[in-house]
Amino acid sequence: MARRKSQSHTWVYLIWGINGLVVVCLLAFAVFYLNGQRASAAESTTTDATSPAPTRAIPPTSYWLPTLTPNPYYTPPVFETSTPFVLADGPLPTIIGFSLAGRPIEAYTFGVGEREYLVVAGIHGGYEWNTVALANELITYINQHPEVIPSDATLYIIRNMNPDGEARARGVDGRVNNNGVDLNRNFPTENWTANWDRDGCWIYRPTTGGAYGGSEPETRTVMSFINSHNLTAVISYHSAALGVFPGGVPWEEKSKELAKALARVTKYPYPPIDTGCDYTGTLADWAVENGVDAAVDMELTNHRDTDFEQNLKALKVFLNWRP
Ligand SMILES: [Zn+2]
Repeated sequence: MARRKSQSHTWVYLIWGINGLVVVCLLAFAVFYLNGQRASAAESTTTDATSPAPTRAIPPTSYWLPTLTPNPYYTPPVFETSTPFVLADGPLPTIIGFSLAGRPIEAYTFGVGEREYLVVAGIHGGYEWNTVALANELITYINQHPEVIPSDATLYIIRNMNPDGEARARGVDGRVNNNGVDLNRNFPTENWTANWDRDGCWIYRPTTGGAYGGSEPETRTVMSFINSHNLTAVISYHSAALGVFPGGVPWEEKSKELAKALARVTKYPYPPIDTGCDYTGTLADWAVENGVDAAVDMELTNHRDTDFEQNLKALKVFLNWRP
């Protein structure tokens, strides 16, 4: 009797043991499977229609054994990012360069006049995504109202200078390029520096001015665009709230005049609000150091609105501004 009892116990242990093993296997499978699904989903959301030759994403390798190696398919969570911009029935953009991740940097051209003007948006990526949204609105508007371009002027709009940052996230994680560089500190100005005193400056994520001035492909794209044109004036759009910053260290007279004229119609602060931050390696400073008559950094009111009406007025003033 005693022997039979202990034998039946063995069977119970065995069956429960097998059950436990099956549960562990199922859980492990679920974890690996869901991980793979998430990785491929993240891949397909970061591949947008503006990427060159949208090839099919390579399916992720399955990792059947736990590993300490970081999953190469893991990408940070992607929040809402703006959809690729396509101008219906309008001029096609010129691709003037590529970001680190291979996203095109596009320039739209309006008008054929001799005086050349440049608007750059999105230098701070998804942190200032509304500047890209504004550029898209301006491009659409100008396409429908070409008369806003004076007959003796040409306007170029680089609608998204930092497409990788814009695709990464809206908010602080979207500000820098894929090397973690603040592109508005990467221009090889006389005051360029890799690092700077952070007092009064943006401090929400680690960032640098790059390995050297002009180290980043996005920066070099805009530099060669500016060098290959004879620009009268440049607006580099930012957000938010600080006002209109003239180019030059110290601010150059012509850039101050342009900043004042733009501030008058937009009601953005001029002189801009001084937070005590030292700005180094900026696009506007580099532009005036390299032959552009006047350049400004102009900040939208917040990180959400495009301030379209204000900036349409600003565009008209800008295109009629002469040194
Ligand atoms: Zn900015």
